[in-house]
Amino acid sequence: MNNRIYRVFPYILLLALLLLACAGSASQAGSQGLVTNSATVSTPPLTVVPEANSVAAAPEQTSSSTANSGLAISCTSPASLTVALTEGPYFKANTPERASLIDANTTGQKLTVSGYVLDGDCLPVANARIEVWQANAQGQYDNTGYTLRGHLFTDANGHYQFETIVPGLYPGRTEHIHIKVQAPNGPELTTQLFFPGVASNDSDGIFDPSMVLDIHQATDGLTAQFNFIIATK
Ligand code: FE
Repeated sequence: MNNRIYRVFPYILLLALLLLACAGSASQAGSQGLVTNSATVSTPPLTVVPEANSVAAAPEQTSSSTANSGLAISCTSPASLTVALTEGPYFKANTPERASLIDANTTGQKLTVSGYVLDGDCLPVANARIEVWQANAQGQYDNTGYTLRGHLFTDANGHYQFETIVPGLYPGRTEHIHIKVQAPNGPELTTQLFFPGVASNDSDGIFDPSMVLDIHQATDGLTAQFNFIIATK
């Protein structure tokens, strides 16, 4: 009887070892399954991260391209400064700050002038002061009040815009708008803007072709663009 047990015992031991080996292998397979599952579960957050990054990058690109498209102007650094022209006899200080020089009583052809103020490196000049004064449609200046006189400032992109009318002719001069432009703490540029196709441009001693407005017809009057390049210190 005992001999029979001794003879069978190795087989029982072998069987037990085989069973243990199978159990171990099954357990390992189970752990691999868990690893696989846990890897699968952790994949979506990894995928979300780059998406979150690209979403975050999108507004930066948009604001950058908006700023660039807003500055859709031709300027090559170093840029030539806008020419200075005589102030003339009708300048008045202490004008009101306003973006419109006209009101319901103003007669003449409505004109909206806009553009940018840039420095010699073609960079926008924010908060530049723009002084405007001009004759009315009959070629007369208001030397007692502030009709068709005022000043405004460029925005953060160096952009400005003001409303006025096309000035009338007065003896000895062609159509023109007087302008002063000054960067914060910078030197003051005094100059004049002119109109294209005006016959008296050719006989005007102050007229400068580089100061002619780019005029377009809009639904409620004329629009004109001009970019000033100024020294900032
Ligand atoms: Fe004048």
